[in-house]
Amino acid sequence: MDEIIDRLKKVRKGAMFIIEAPSGTGKGTICKELLRRDPNIKFSVSVTTRKPREGEVEGVDYFFVSDQQYDEFLAQDAFYEHVDSQYGSRYGTLRSEVDSFINVGQDVLFDMDWAGARQMRQKAPDDVVTIYLLPPSIKELRKRLINRGTDSMEVIEQRMSIILDKISHWDEFDYVIVNVNLEETITKIQKIISGERMRRVRQVGLKGFVKELVNEVKNSN
Ligand code: 5GP
Repeated sequence: MDEIIDRLKKVRKGAMFIIEAPSGTGKGTICKELLRRDPNIKFSVSVTTRKPREGEVEGVDYFFVSDQQYDEFLAQDAFYEHVDSQYGSRYGTLRSEVDSFINVGQDVLFDMDWAGARQMRQKAPDDVVTIYLLPPSIKELRKRLINRGTDSMEVIEQRMSIILDKISHWDEFDYVIVNVNLEETITKIQKIISGERMRRVRQVGLKGFVKELVNEVKNSN
């Protein structure tokens, strides 16, 4: 029995979980916790032309590249999706990074904006699951951004000014969670992940398994 379960696990196709939220909603912390708690989820490390923030690690948070290197990736069609942000930086998801996980049954977590989520959904509709996090209030959001201490007041004001635009895309997502309590939000996302893993399209090993069951019935007659 254990052997069968092991085999079914191996032939599962990984899912792509995209989490999006306005800055300061807690997306970063939530993504880190989900990855820490579940070794079967891998983070899709994006390429960006923005400069590293304090504490960010090359190859862990992002692959930090020059504009020229980014253009080379574009020319090679190396990206699943890519966007130019309102702040002038560019971001892209490497195909090689994602496919190496999905094809061996590992789920991938993405931290990307709604425009990227839209592109990913078009390219891989069966593989993509999108989750939108809303802040409990705008006042709370501003407070969290200031307390985070990673951005200047100028950048915070810029981020606040595009929040309306960001929030207007909430209804393009499969799941929406208001992040009132971090722990509860993490639990809710873990439940979504468990459910999505069970979907028939992801259990690509089922066909063979059912065939064997049918043969067993026929042979026992
Ligand atoms: P930050 O510069 O604060 O790390 O990210 C800015 C925005 O870019 C966030 O909304 C983040 O989710 C988004 N982002 C990060 N990586 C990617 C990516 O590979 N593709 C897209 N479309 N957006 C990304």
